[in-house]
Amino acid sequence: MEHFDIAVCGYGPVGSTFAGLMGKLGHKVLVIEKNVGPSPTARAINTDGEQLRTFDRLGIAEKIVKNSSEVHCVHFADANLNPIQTIEQPVGVSAMGWPNQVLFYQPELEGFIRTSVESEENIVIKEGTELLSFEDCDEGVYLNCKNSDGDLKFFSKFFVGCDGASSFVRRQLDVGLEDFEYNQEWLVCDAHLTKKVNIPEKEAMQICDPKRPGTYVPGRRGHLRFEFKKMPSEDSNELEKDENVWKLLKPWINEDNAELERAQVYSFHACIAETWRKGNVLIAGDAAHQMPPFMGAGMGTGIRDVTNISWKLDLLLKNKVNEGILDTYQRERHSHAKWTIAQTVTIGQVIEGFCAAAEGKEYEPKGPSYDVNFPHIPSGIYSDPADMITGVPIPQPILTKNNKKEMLDRIIDETFAVLTLESDLNLTEKAKTIIELLGIKIITVTSNDDSEERLKSVFEKYEAVLVRPDRYTYGGVKDISYLSNMIESLEKEFSLNL
Ligand SMILES: Cc1cc2nc3c(=O)[nH]c(=O)nc-3n(C[C@H](O)[C@H](O)[C@H](O)COP(=O)(O)OP(=O)(O)OC[C@H]3O[C@@H](n4cnc5c(N)ncnc54)[C@H](O)[C@@H]3O)c2cc1C
Repeated sequence: MEHFDIAVCGYGPVGSTFAGLMGKLGHKVLVIEKNVGPSPTARAINTDGEQLRTFDRLGIAEKIVKNSSEVHCVHFADANLNPIQTIEQPVGVSAMGWPNQVLFYQPELEGFIRTSVESEENIVIKEGTELLSFEDCDEGVYLNCKNSDGDLKFFSKFFVGCDGASSFVRRQLDVGLEDFEYNQEWLVCDAHLTKKVNIPEKEAMQICDPKRPGTYVPGRRGHLRFEFKKMPSEDSNELEKDENVWKLLKPWINEDNAELERAQVYSFHACIAETWRKGNVLIAGDAAHQMPPFMGAGMGTGIRDVTNISWKLDLLLKNKVNEGILDTYQRERHSHAKWTIAQTVTIGQVIEGFCAAAEGKEYEPKGPSYDVNFPHIPSGIYSDPADMITGVPIPQPILTKNNKKEMLDRIIDETFAVLTLESDLNLTEKAKTIIELLGIKIITVTSNDDSEERLKSVFEKYEAVLVRPDRYTYGGVKDISYLSNMIESLEKEFSLNL
């Protein structure tokens, strides 16, 4: 029976990204996937600057950006497609060092991730292989699978279920879902332009038509995404018929200028798993949470999960920390994911509110919808997150070091890093031991190094900040003499083996 450090069930965008991250960290990884080849159609269509930082670790962020587009604004529009409210979207390179939001084509994105994953010799991919059962014991997890060759058995020290919304792994763990009682059915259509047409290329639209709420998103290279709410009296099979789909698409495209990729009714749910880890088994991605796609954040939430857990499993496998570190996964990710689900539901409610207003009911949109910042993580941090620096990703400058320009993430690489303006750190022996154990990099930044001043607001508050391997700021110290205290606090926070 072949042994692995990490086994993953599911080779979707979340499982493949996780496999790539663990493989690049040098671990022996097994991926089990029942289907063969990337998803043939698009579901997720947008990603953000934070996720691009993770994709950059797989060496594919530039390729993704090159093969994507950006929208400049999102309109909430009436039935005649006239804007009621417009939310401008920042375009171009953001503080993350990458565009704020880009629109990609999922089969292509999955292809990019897979090419990176499959270039790692220590990752074994078993496609066309179904996971049938697993058994967790103290040392690891036994996995029973089957494929066309028959039954297969594997052993892995840790096992992560990235097996999607109806997760077999979650159900086997007997983990319940907290349900937000948001259940709607929408027809999702993807089309591709075959001729140039005069429709908005840089503006997305939430259509607040009480007779048929909908969504229009112009993707990259003529890929168009439409979503239409299935109304209570309608039959899904009828709605999915080509002739009915083309009628819905008439305000934008027709059979002479576009091809239909697929039209399918999806059930949108909002829910989150109550437990994200039992023993040596964890869940991530849609297996741990589901949300309606109005904010385009479902896949992104999963990418954040695996970015969070990968460095912790890495340290555990390298025996630098003890198992306690795994408890920090759900503690840090659960409320963040729950906030994201609530936010997507809010956008759905804004659409419903404008629809109600169109029918003469009173509606005043409350609070922001798209123009919100993700919250800080609630733990795994040192200083007060009210500073807007702690518990969120550190801005990414392009630093000039030794006459060479380099993105901060590529200097940090896969470890913790102290960013400081000071050269004399006067560290305690214990802090030095922790620096050695974790391979913490000390990066001295002068104002000349950061010509775009992306770290200006950070250094206005702190003399030094400590960045985690997932690029989240662990904390900052206003006086460099406290840097040792901050480093020493890692021992308890992340269960270091000192
Ligand atoms: C219409 C729509 C639009 C969306 N738009 C966006 C968007 O713009 N942005 C965004 O971030 N998200 C979006 N999402 C959400 C996004 O598509 C999902 O969150 C994302 O695909 C989840 O990825 P995953 O890897 O967790 O799961 P999946 O992509 O579902 O992958 C799970 C994999 O596990 C495999 N598997 C399951 N069980 C087994 C088993 N027993 N053995 C072996 N293999 C198994 C499956 O075959 C599958 O390949 C959208 C979703 C929909 C439906």
